[in-house]
Amino acid sequence: MARKILIIEDTPTIARVQAHIAIAIGYEADVAGSLAQAKELMAHNRYFCAIVDFVLPDAPKGEAIPFTIAKSIPTIVMTGNLDAQTREIVEQHPVIDYITKENKQAYHYLRKQLERLPRNEKVKTLVVDDSKSSRTLISALLKRHKYQVFEAGDGIEALAVLKEEPDISVIITDNEMPNMRGEELCIEIRRLYTDDDKAIIGISGVDSNSVSTRFLKNGANDYLRKPFNPEEFYCRLSQNVDTLEYIQTIRRQANTDYLTSLPNRRYFFTHVDKMLTRRAKKGQPCRLAMIDIDKFKLINDEHGHDCGDAVLQALGTAFVKHFDIALVARLGGEEFAIFFDNEEQQKCIERLEAFRLFLEKNSRSLTTQGIHFTISIGLAELVTNSIDQLITLADSKLYEAKEAGRNQLIC
Ligand code: GH3
Ligand code: MG
Ligand code: MG
Ligand code: MG
Repeated sequence: MARKILIIEDTPTIARVQAHIAIAIGYEADVAGSLAQAKELMAHNRYFCAIVDFVLPDAPKGEAIPFTIAKSIPTIVMTGNLDAQTREIVEQHPVIDYITKENKQAYHYLRKQLERLPRNEKVKTLVVDDSKSSRTLISALLKRHKYQVFEAGDGIEALAVLKEEPDISVIITDNEMPNMRGEELCIEIRRLYTDDDKAIIGISGVDSNSVSTRFLKNGANDYLRKPFNPEEFYCRLSQNVDTLEYIQTIRRQANTDYLTSLPNRRYFFTHVDKMLTRRAKKGQPCRLAMIDIDKFKLINDEHGHDCGDAVLQALGTAFVKHFDIALVARLGGEEFAIFFDNEEQQKCIERLEAFRLFLEKNSRSLTTQGIHFTISIGLAELVTNSIDQLITLADSKLYEAKEAGRNQLIC
């Protein structure tokens, strides 16, 4: 179900722009032109977040803000101008952010914040501090922006929490703590986990340049001095989470075939290699199938390269429906591979044969162009820790299948 956003704004053109931005991201938007209307809507709906105009006809000085806050609705305030008095009123409330409408970047910035909130729900953070009050304060800031929060009282406890929750991606750590200090925790985290899936933000109440330097040298990504201003905290936090997200995207792209969205050769080789080694140690055989579209060149020649691409995409989708996506890959061109980690030879043959027959009968229905195509399959079974050996054997079986007339499986 779509997340609902409440937009409290009395200028219709501005409300329309805001609703447009929210809907484009995937929100369902309700617009209230006054505080009274907003109260009515809040009484009957649950909102994921709200955009609140500072000046409304029945709430001219930010009086609407406490109403959304009281309902625990994360609130972004939009103001015409941000003079000292306005800022003072807004800062009395735990809002997500405040944005000045006259700023050219305002709507771009609003979009970013609205995109971040649903994303933050999936981001796990860990707050490490021996001071309970400091921990509670930072946790509250994180929860306000919908992050998932875990807490630890020192470095040792933090490592235990990370072991339990390995997908925690942001660690915010104090330096001065008993048992294990923040700097030492950084070293341990960098030793135990890869660099690019955890961000560390160091904090310290000690006024010294050497603390920040040591934090950064020991593997922290960022540093904040206590007491810090929430705005600066959120900016640094978002930047670090954004960076982690970019790295993940790049990593995903590097491992994915752009046309079919299946894992690519690079991913397949690394992934299968690990499984091969594990099975070879136990003396267990592995099975790998090489699959190739029959007379694919003819399809390109007769229907054009775009139709050829559509066939490859359709086959990719069919693979995902019939096999475990983690073990299927497009190795290149019209050649695909499937690795069977745990299945007996007979079972593999049955599944592959069923897949081949499915395509023989239904391939026409898989593309809008209605192109009929078939596949040939070579299946290899071997106790080995060499993926090249396994592929070479499967390839020779595939060659036999082609020689024997195509649209068949040989093992
Ligand atoms: P066989 O039954 O022996 O496998 O015959 P074939 O025509 O499928 O094999 P061949 O190796 O002669 O031709 C493969 C063709 O696949 C040639 C190449 O242009 C085409 N091809 C490779 N990659 C792509 C792609 O990404 N898109 C499209 N449309 N065609 C591709
Ligand atoms: Mg207004
Ligand atoms: Mg401390
Ligand atoms: Mg072919």
